[in-house]
Amino acid sequence: MRILVASLGLETNTFTPVVTHYDDFRLERGPASLQRIAAVETFQKAGCTVIPSISADTVPSGPIDPESFARFCDEILAAIPPTAPGTAVLDGVWLNLHGAMEVLGQGSGEERLLRVLRDALGFEVPIAVALDFHANNTPAVAELANIVCGYRTAPHTDSAETQIRAAELLIRCIRENLLPHPAMVKPPLLLGGEMVMTGIEPAKSLIDDVRRTASRTDILDAALFCGCAWADVPHSGASVIVTAPERDTAEQEARRLAQRFWDMRREFYFEEEAAQPDEALEVAAATSKGPIFISDSGDNLTAGAPGDSTWYLQRLLDRAGRTPCPTCSVPNGRLPDRPTLVAGILDSAAVQLCASKRPRECIDLHLGGQLNPEPGTQMRFSGTLLQRGCIQNSNGDALGEAVVLRLATTSNPCTFDSSSTIDVVITSKRCAFTDPANYTSLGLTIPDYHLIVVKMGYLFDALRPFAARAILAFTPGPACQDFSQLTFRRVQRPVFPLDDSCEWEASRR
Ligand SMILES: [Zn+2]
Repeated sequence: MRILVASLGLETNTFTPVVTHYDDFRLERGPASLQRIAAVETFQKAGCTVIPSISADTVPSGPIDPESFARFCDEILAAIPPTAPGTAVLDGVWLNLHGAMEVLGQGSGEERLLRVLRDALGFEVPIAVALDFHANNTPAVAELANIVCGYRTAPHTDSAETQIRAAELLIRCIRENLLPHPAMVKPPLLLGGEMVMTGIEPAKSLIDDVRRTASRTDILDAALFCGCAWADVPHSGASVIVTAPERDTAEQEARRLAQRFWDMRREFYFEEEAAQPDEALEVAAATSKGPIFISDSGDNLTAGAPGDSTWYLQRLLDRAGRTPCPTCSVPNGRLPDRPTLVAGILDSAAVQLCASKRPRECIDLHLGGQLNPEPGTQMRFSGTLLQRGCIQNSNGDALGEAVVLRLATTSNPCTFDSSSTIDVVITSKRCAFTDPANYTSLGLTIPDYHLIVVKMGYLFDALRPFAARAILAFTPGPACQDFSQLTFRRVQRPVFPLDDSCEWEASRR
C-alpha cells in the first residue's frame, strides 16, 4: 500500500488584521517531515510504503495568503509519484489538518486542499483526515474525504491518538475495499472554546457518547467539533461528522449527536474562573497566595490574536498609579504589591532597540500595536533592562529574541523595592508563554511572581502546577470572549448565542 502523508495546520482568527505567510510556518519537507507525524509508525507496521510530502504548522493567526497556500498545495501534489498509465498512483492519502484554516478571499483551506487532491487523484483513492476539535468544517469536507477523525479532548491531549485512528481506518478501508462517505450535520452553534472543555460537563457526556458511537461495529468513527468562533466565515461553528460503511447509519448518528449538542447549548459555561478585567486585578491584589495567572483573553495568541496589545498593561499601570510612591510620586506598582510579570507583548522594533542597551540601563520606548494598531493598544513605556535572551520551549526550539524590562520612569528612575516590581517581557515573535521553558529560558522564575498576566484563554496544562489560581479576564481584542463586542457579518445566521432564541432541529435539515 502506498500512502501519501501530509500535515498542514493553521487555526484562523479573522478578527485580526494579520495575514499569515509561507515563512511563518515551521516546515519540514520529504523524509524529515515524517519525524513530526505520529501515524507513520502505524503505516510502517502495516507494511505500507509511506510517501512523505510536507509537515507545516504555525501558531493560530490570521488567514493565509493565497500564494503561500498554493505553494503548500503544490508541494503536496509534487509528492504524488509518477506512474504508468492505467495503474493507481496511490492506495490512500492521509492528512493531518487543523480544520479552521482560512485562505484570504478563498474560504476554507481544508476544502480547497481536498479539492486539489481530488482533481489530481479522482474519487477512487480513499482520503483520511485528522482534524482539531476547533475545526470549522464546510459541508464539502465531509463530501471530499472518506474518513474524518477529530480530537476528543479540549485542552488537546489526543492529537497523536487521532492521527493514528485516522491511519488505522485508512488501512482498514483499503484492505476491505471500502470507500465510505461521511455524514455531516452542523447545529447552529458558535461557542467559545473556553466554554467547551471535555473534562467537565456537559461536554464530557457528549464526548463519551461520541466514543460509544464510534465503538459500534457498524460505525467507523464519530467526531464532534466545537469549531473556532473567532472566524467570521459562513461555516464557522460546531459540526458532527460520522463515518460508516452505510451512509444511512452515518446520517442517523450524526443527526442524533448534533441534536444532543444543540439541546445542551445553554449548559456550557467557563470552567476557568472568569471576571471583568479590573475585577480580576482586584482579586489578584486581595489574594495572599500566588502565583495568580490572569489571561488577557481578548489578545489570546492561542486563539489567533496578535499578542501585541498593551491595553491590559495600561490598565494594570493605571491601577498601580492610584497609590503614588511617597518619595518620588511616580506610580509605585502597588497593585498588586507583590511582583508582577506581563508575559509577554510582541514588539520586534522594541526588542531591536534594546539590542544596543546595557543591563540595568533605562530605556524609553514605544510599545505595542505593531500588528493590530487599534486605539488603546499601544503606549510609551519606560523600564530598566533586566534580561535579554532567546525564548525556548521544552523541546529546545528557539522561539525568537526577547527582552525583560522592569517598570521605571525616565524623568525619575524610581527604584522599586523587589516586592512591588512590574516586569514586562517584550518579544520579537508571537509567543504565548504556554510552556514553563519559555520563562526559564529568559531567566524568569515563575514562583517569584505573585501575578502573571498571559495572553491565553484557559491556562495551559503545563502551567497548572505553578498556579495558585487562574482567572480569565474578559479583555477586548480579536479573541474577545464577549461576542457582542465583535462584528460578525459573514457567519450563517441564525446562530446561538448571537441569536439567542433561535430554534433548530436536526431532523429538519
Ligand atoms: Zn484546538
